[in-house]
Amino acid sequence: MIYLKTELKDGKKLKVDVYGDEFYCLCPGCGKEVHLDDEMVKHCASDGDFGSTSFYCKECTKKRSITLGFCEFQQKNIDVLTEAFEKVSGKPLRTELYNALDTYNQLIYNYLSDLEESEKE
Ligand SMILES: [Zn+2]
Repeated sequence: MIYLKTELKDGKKLKVDVYGDEFYCLCPGCGKEVHLDDEMVKHCASDGDFGSTSFYCKECTKKRSITLGFCEFQQKNIDVLTEAFEKVSGKPLRTELYNALDTYNQLIYNYLSDLEESEKE
C-alpha cells in the first residue's frame, strides 16, 4: 500500500492511501483539472517527476496538435523554399527572398503566439 504523507498548515501530519487512479493535475493551458490515466502515472514514475510534470486536457491537446502540425507543415515549406533560394544565382535577389521568408515566418510566429496568449485569458 502506497500512501501520501504530508503536513498540514497547523502542523498535523496526514497520511492518505493512494490508488493509481487517484492522481490529478491542472492543465497548464486552461487550468482545468485533468484526471491522470495509467499511462500518465507511469510517465511520471518512470521519466518525469511528480513536482514538475503536468498534462494538457483533451481540448488543449487537440489545439496544440493542430498548432504543432501546422508548424511541421511550415517547416517543410521553409526547407523547400530555402533549397529553391539557394539555386537563385543573383545574390541581391537571393538575400531579398530570404528576408521575405524570414518576415513571413515571423508574422506567422507572432500570430500563433498572440493566439496562444488570447486563449489563456
Ligand atoms: Zn486545458
